[in-house]
Amino acid sequence: MHSYEYIRPADQAAAIAAASTTTTAQQGANVRFLAGGTTLIDLMKLNVETPARVLDINRLPLDRIEAASGGGLRVGAMVRNSDLANDAKVQQEYSVLSQAILQGASAQIRNMATVGGNLLQRTRCVYFRDTAMACNKREPGSGCPAITGHNRTLAILGVSEHCIATNPSDMCVALAALEATVHIQGTKGSRAVAFGDFHLLPGTTPERETVLEPGDLITHVSLPPPIVPSKQVYLKLRDRASYEFALASAAVVLTIETGNITYARIALGGVGTKPWRSAEAETALTGRPANDGTFRQAAEAALGASTPQSENTFKIELAKRCLTQALRMAMAR
Ligand SMILES: Cc1cc2nc3c(=O)[nH]c(=O)nc-3n(C[C@H](O)[C@H](O)[C@H](O)COP(=O)(O)OP(=O)(O)OC[C@H]3O[C@@H](n4cnc5c(N)ncnc54)[C@H](O)[C@@H]3O)c2cc1C
Ligand code: SF4
Repeated sequence: MHSYEYIRPADQAAAIAAASTTTTAQQGANVRFLAGGTTLIDLMKLNVETPARVLDINRLPLDRIEAASGGGLRVGAMVRNSDLANDAKVQQEYSVLSQAILQGASAQIRNMATVGGNLLQRTRCVYFRDTAMACNKREPGSGCPAITGHNRTLAILGVSEHCIATNPSDMCVALAALEATVHIQGTKGSRAVAFGDFHLLPGTTPERETVLEPGDLITHVSLPPPIVPSKQVYLKLRDRASYEFALASAAVVLTIETGNITYARIALGGVGTKPWRSAEAETALTGRPANDGTFRQAAEAALGASTPQSENTFKIELAKRCLTQALRMAMAR
């Protein structure tokens, strides 16, 4: 692993000031905040991330889960994934989030991983993680060997001719369905970004994955007041039952009255270049009878714009079945 300067700022302002002394604080490799380290250290060992400075933010007071004004929840960026998944209010009122986190990684990794770090975890595309290979995301302009190479696990929604990498997060799929907001503190003050606007499509700049600017620190994520009562399910399909990323996943939040769907929030994982909220599926469900026919129509709508590559056409039907089954499971709750 290459050498780097390690800094442990005592407060948020110091962290942001230190991070913003370079023009590449978030998107490039010169300065990195260190949270749980389960993505960053991994990639530093592979020389994929080569920051000159690592700012350890573990001492910042961002590790609380609190009631937010207006009835929602405020989750600090340093809250560990395990603590969030096991929080009583999250389990009761935002259970899709708890389910999603608990189906990710391993207990040990969830104990280290933080909310902020999970939002910024990087793709598992094998070419991205191998510095001997070209990769537009790691080295802009070098090419995308995945398009004609190993792409079985890669994305079918939101792809571009420059990158087809899947966003690997489970937690983010649930946050998309729950319509969370990401709160950011930067050199010019604080701002709030709707979850659906936080991650970017690859387009012509796959190296730019979020709206974060140099020096930006994620301080917390907020959840709107819970939809009560609602039926919530996160279903994850993968090559093995644990410790594996999703080939396809679905987060579902539904309300049903007298057999009809009155509210639907749907997001997909494992198939999109970003956590994939499906407005198409939500429209196909809302106001319709809650039955298998409606569920399948929603799944068809959600995957309608799929662009598969040589090895991942199977994901289209897999994702449709995943969403259909998640909706069935929600009905049984
Ligand atoms: C073997 C393995 C299996 C895994 N399986 C899964 C899985 O099945 N599902 C899944 O969803 N995830 C999985 N993960 C990924 C895991 O969830 C992430 O690595 C973790 O969430 C990252 O959080 P962290 O706190 O460790 O981030 P770090 O590694 O500390 O940071 C990640 C990135 O975020 C930046 N950052 C961190 N906090 C902030 C902040 N507050 N503001 C601004 N920038 C910040 C860092 O600078 C860095 O660039 C797996 C990881 C491993 C190693
Ligand atoms: S899919 Fe994206 S991350 Fe993978 S090789 Fe292509 S450019 Fe790199």
